[in-house]
Formats: sequence, C-alpha cells, structure tokens
Amino acid sequence: MTHFPVEKIRADFPILAQKIRGKDLVYLDNAASCQKPNAVIDAISDLYRNDYANIHRGVHTLSVRSTDKFESARGKIRDFINAASEKEIIFVRGATEAINLVAQSYGRTHIRAGDEILITAMEHHSNIVPWQLLCEQTGAVLKVAPINRKGELIYEAFEALLSDKTRLVAVAHMSNALGTINPVEKIIAAAHAQKVPVLLDGAQAAPHMKIDVQALDCDFYAFSGHKLYGPSGIGVLYGRQVLLEAMPPYQGGGDMIRKVTFEKSDYNKLPYKFEAGTPSIADVVGLGAAIDYLNAVGMDQVAAYEAELLGYATEQARNIDGLTIVGEAARKGAILSFVLENVHPHDIGTMLDSLGIAIRAGHHCAMPVMDFFEVPATARASFAMYNTRAEIDALMQGIESLIKVFG
Ligand code: PMP
Repeated sequence: MTHFPVEKIRADFPILAQKIRGKDLVYLDNAASCQKPNAVIDAISDLYRNDYANIHRGVHTLSVRSTDKFESARGKIRDFINAASEKEIIFVRGATEAINLVAQSYGRTHIRAGDEILITAMEHHSNIVPWQLLCEQTGAVLKVAPINRKGELIYEAFEALLSDKTRLVAVAHMSNALGTINPVEKIIAAAHAQKVPVLLDGAQAAPHMKIDVQALDCDFYAFSGHKLYGPSGIGVLYGRQVLLEAMPPYQGGGDMIRKVTFEKSDYNKLPYKFEAGTPSIADVVGLGAAIDYLNAVGMDQVAAYEAELLGYATEQARNIDGLTIVGEAARKGAILSFVLENVHPHDIGTMLDSLGIAIRAGHHCAMPVMDFFEVPATARASFAMYNTRAEIDALMQGIESLIKVFG
C-alpha cells in the first residue's frame, strides 16, 4: 500500500506518548473509545477560552461566534456522511441516544401490536434494549436474524424473517464484539423492496470506513463522537428528511419549539425539533474538528491501513497455540476478539495491562453474542489509525508470555 503516515499521526495524539507501568502505552481499546488528537483538544479549549456562550437566538458577539462554530460542525458532519441536508443531522449524546430517539419517536407513532422489528443476533445492547422497550410499550414483536459460527449474518434467514409484518429493520453496520461488517446494501435493498425502513447502527463502522448515507440508501444512521476521535457525550442521528418531518419530538424543552402557550406548543423546524435544551456545544465543535482531522488523513487511507493491521494481527494470532479468534467473518473491521484455552479474558486484560497494553475483556455489551459462542467473555483488541505493527507484535508477545505463566 501507499505510505501511511502513522508516526506523524501518533505525534498528534498526546496521550499515546506515555508509559504505563514503565512500558510504552499500547492502546488497543479503540472500539470502546478512541483517543483524541490535539486538533480536537485545542478546538474545545479554544472555544471555552475565546468564544463560548449559549447558542441560537443570542444577539451578542460570543453567542454568534459559538452558534457559527456549532452549526459549521453540523455542515462538516453532513459532508462527512454525505447527507442530503443539514436538516437531517440531529445532535444527540451518542449512538445509544440516537437509537432510543428512533425507537420512541418513529416507533411509538408507526409501530403497533403484532408488528415486527427485525434485528440481528450480533447487536450491541444499544440496538436491542430500545426495541424491547418499544415492544413492551406497543405489543410489537422483536425478531432476531441468526448468525453462523464465523460471526456472519445468515442472510437467507434474515430475508426469510422479513415479513409483511416487519415495520423496521435495525442492524449494526459493523459489530463491536466480532468486527463483522454486515451486507447492509443487500439488507437495505431487501427491506426497501417491502417498504420497510432501515436503521444502521454505525457506532463501529463510522470510524473505519467512508460512510455515504445516500449511496447506502439507509433511513437512519446512528454514531458516536467518542469512537470517531471526537469527544464523548456527543453523537449523531442521521434521518431521512421525510421521515424526520413526520416524527414527533423525542424530548420537550427549550430550542425545540416555535411557540409555546399553555394550550399548545408549535415545534421548531428540523433539525432543532429533536434538539431540546442546551446542547453539548463544545463537544459538537470538537467533533467537527475530529472530522476535519479524519478528512485530512482520508477515510479510504484509514480503511486500507487498518485492513493491513487487522490482516497482520489475525495472521499472528492464528499462529498462537491455544488462541481462538471469535468472529472470522469474510468482511471484517479492525477488531480481534479472542479467547485463550486456560486463561479467563479478565486475566488476559489484567496481565496485558501490566505490560502497558490496553485491551478490553468482557461481554462488550453484546451478551447474546457471548451466549452464541458459549463463552463468558472475550478479550478484544481493537485497532485505530494510530496503531502500528510493532504494537501488534507487543500484543502477541504479551499473549505468549501469559500463556506460559498460566500453562
Ligand atoms: N452500537 C455499537 C455497535 C457499539 O459498539 C456501541 C458502543 N460500544 C454502541 C452502539 C453504543 O454507543 P455509545 O455508548 O457511544 O452510545
């Protein structure tokens, strides 16, 4: 591949240049949350130092400056995912809130007793529980399309479950527990053929590949800023304008109204109808800076570099006796979930931390996936654009050394 400037990128992430327990930090917990470049940290502190005030309707200079920065970030996000309009970009706290918004606003108005919502067996709890709540509230039924031993959706089973009762399909673009990238193009085409809208949970996909919501033709797309090199506490719901227009507000409060009387309130236009209360202003600005940063690197370059890292890590992991990779889909993002024969995943995580290596051990908020693979938990190394082959070597040496300790 063409040269990827990983050392230059690493230098932009101040947190990476530290020692943990006397060893160089190797940060491989990016699927949980990734680190922030100076550009993001500076954009946030610059706003608070120089321009901060509450946004919208303010007539004073600081409010105008903050509003401009806030709304300019919305424009950057529109471009980043190629939405047709800024009206389709709703700021929320994260992917979780985005999905809950759709479940409660779209779901409560369009889904009735006996209707079906179709998800897959590899969903994060954030794309399961909001639908279960909706089913409890409405009497709808949650259907789950199964996966195979490689951690891939069994597409034929998905299609068979898509029925004339299905009112919504909600699937992960990429699984956080397995790394699987779902065949979302096929899923969307099949659902649309039956006039069923599709929500994509893009929390994991957005940091790793170019997202084009118009080319995908999805109806909703949810993602979180903190996994995209941006701040925590901010995320995005993309929604197709015609659907958003027809949906009632999710929360009531300031900013989401045009006129309030005690008899009735008129709601604001899109996207403000869904943004009640003072938003996380600086975090939106920080997310805009993260997107500028990613655009400068180039999402296609990020995807190609991470594919190479994953390929290298997978090859190394396959050479380790007693290590089983959990999730070996043909189309995968930069996640390596694994178990070791005689070592509990939590011990793997603790032992690796003593070597300065940060991974995650647990159910990854995807307990049904753990049940399917009959493991209590997995160890998960997840890669970002600032990781290196040398860090993967350190991970593999760490695993080898703990296998020796645990016999
Ligand atoms: N979906 C997936 C696939 C995820 O990986 C995550 C975060 N682990 C979420 C949803 C929820 O994201 P957040 O906690 O940022 O709302």
